Amino acid sequence: MTFADVAAYLDRMEGTRSRNELVKTLAELYTRTSPDEIQPVTYLIQGRLVPFFEPVEMGMGEKLVMASIAQASGRPVAEVNELFNTLGDLGLVAEKLSTGSPAKTPSIADAHSRLMEIAASAGPGSVEKKRTVFASLLHDLDARSAKHLVRMALGRLRLGLGDPTVLEALSFAKKGDRSLRPSLEAAYNRTSDLGLIAKTFWTEGEKGIAALKITVGRPIRPQLAERLPNPEAVINKLGAVVVQPKYDGIRVQIHKNGANVRVFSRNLEDFSLMFVELVAAAKKLKDRTLILDGEAIGYNPESEEYVMFQQTASRRRQHGIEEAAASLPLVAFVFDVLYRNGKDLTPLPYGERYALLGEVLGGSTVLTPAPLTTTSSAEELTKTLLDNISKGLEGVVVKRMDSPYQAGARNFNWVKLKRTTSGQLNDTVDLVLLGYYFGKGKRTSFGLGALLAGVYDAEHDRFDTITKIGTGLSDAGWREIHQRADKLQVKEKPARVRSLLTPDVWLKPEVVVEVLADEITPGTNHTAGKVGDGPGYALRFPRIVSFRAADKRPEDATTVKEIVEMFQQQGRRKVSP
Ligand code: ATP
Repeated sequence: MTFADVAAYLDRMEGTRSRNELVKTLAELYTRTSPDEIQPVTYLIQGRLVPFFEPVEMGMGEKLVMASIAQASGRPVAEVNELFNTLGDLGLVAEKLSTGSPAKTPSIADAHSRLMEIAASAGPGSVEKKRTVFASLLHDLDARSAKHLVRMALGRLRLGLGDPTVLEALSFAKKGDRSLRPSLEAAYNRTSDLGLIAKTFWTEGEKGIAALKITVGRPIRPQLAERLPNPEAVINKLGAVVVQPKYDGIRVQIHKNGANVRVFSRNLEDFSLMFVELVAAAKKLKDRTLILDGEAIGYNPESEEYVMFQQTASRRRQHGIEEAAASLPLVAFVFDVLYRNGKDLTPLPYGERYALLGEVLGGSTVLTPAPLTTTSSAEELTKTLLDNISKGLEGVVVKRMDSPYQAGARNFNWVKLKRTTSGQLNDTVDLVLLGYYFGKGKRTSFGLGALLAGVYDAEHDRFDTITKIGTGLSDAGWREIHQRADKLQVKEKPARVRSLLTPDVWLKPEVVVEVLADEITPGTNHTAGKVGDGPGYALRFPRIVSFRAADKRPEDATTVKEIVEMFQQQGRRKVSP
């Protein structure tokens, strides 16, 4: 298979307005892919060279791509720049200036290995090397391929294929229907590597997929918590539970493999560089291999004060991490051990896994077990919740003592309880920006007015609209949104978006914002939870509380299922005194 073959499918998928069509087209591409090719193809169609959790990037900025296009086409950089100003998309510039003919196009394996060479080059002379290798690849490609290659390099592939869509397409390609999606998804929850799954599926079939195991070095998709309206509902539903503080920090999954320690974020990115203290502390633990799950947070043991998410997260900026480590050291409250010395512990009941933590952490002052109490009384649970809130924590997470760790699941094994404000939604939701309307009045100076926002439908791997947001941001916030939105504009509604409204500008679903609203109401304007001709759900009085983008991928946004549950709970809360 050539890069041009894949590019032709990318073109077709880009032009697709329906998600079913997207699955079918991708399945068709897969049926033409050999076992040797399927792994690189799977990464490339998502604009990657390796799985998301491997920190391998091409490291090509716009300037370098422009220089490469100039070199490949033999045109002056100024001309490339001028065309870029007119066309607004370097992919289109590369397409227009391409001199290659399809007959010469490299194989997918060849293109992938040349791109890996670009990613691997670092240090002195690397800019030159990247430019030369990229230019020679561009030179060998036809116009359409050049367009997609450039977009891949800049992380601007237009498709936005969600993981479930890829898994469903694999199922369709092999079986003609979506029936294998659940077992593929289960393997994905254990390994987080779509390329590995595709390759195993192609070479060893369903048996191979079932045999893919949790292992150190590959993040496990995190278990997540459900919501219930109050402590009474928790005890009624779960009976005896363990209760832990809900720390408002950053979820960390720590993998130790001998002296090699890696820390993965909630959305499966390698954040080892940011968590130097955790890496150092994990290295000192005596077990050879470990996977730990916990929450990292700035904590001052003397004043017993916790530092809130925003401040902890400011470290993401990567520079100044050492200073930050000195002035605001991070600790991690470890609440789970998932793997130890080659053994997968996830099937064990939580009580047994938790009991190992003391021994595993061996008195480390940086990695400490999250404290826990047990109760079967709603009164006691209420008291613990209030105690934790008064200490500046978000609330509590309640867990079933007998539950296995279910990778990637949001179910009642874990329930989060936060501060409640009677009559209002007691929790924020995470929404994906899908479009915007040109503003009126003051906001025209920022270039946009109300934002169209949506939730994620995990079952169908699509984004449904739920509200328009016009408030909650400072002027600087609106400006920032505008800048980010600018890069995400697309001409038509993306295939994975389901909407009855047409905003002035559509956006590629990427930016996640945290939103507080007064209420969820049924209505006819939005598609969230809409089945057939029935109503959908909408948010009343939404306002943006914060940007969650670095922490969450669009697929990590609040789901339709959660909205439906929150709507039902809201009803229950209202009738209670
Ligand atoms: P939120 O925005 O409320 O943090 P979320 O969508 O990030 O929610 P949830 O599943 O709703 O994730 O809530 C669980 C999150 O709470 C975990 O991802 C973790 O980051 C955090 N957390 C804090 N303390 C704990 C704890 N003791 N046990 C489990 N998770 C905890």
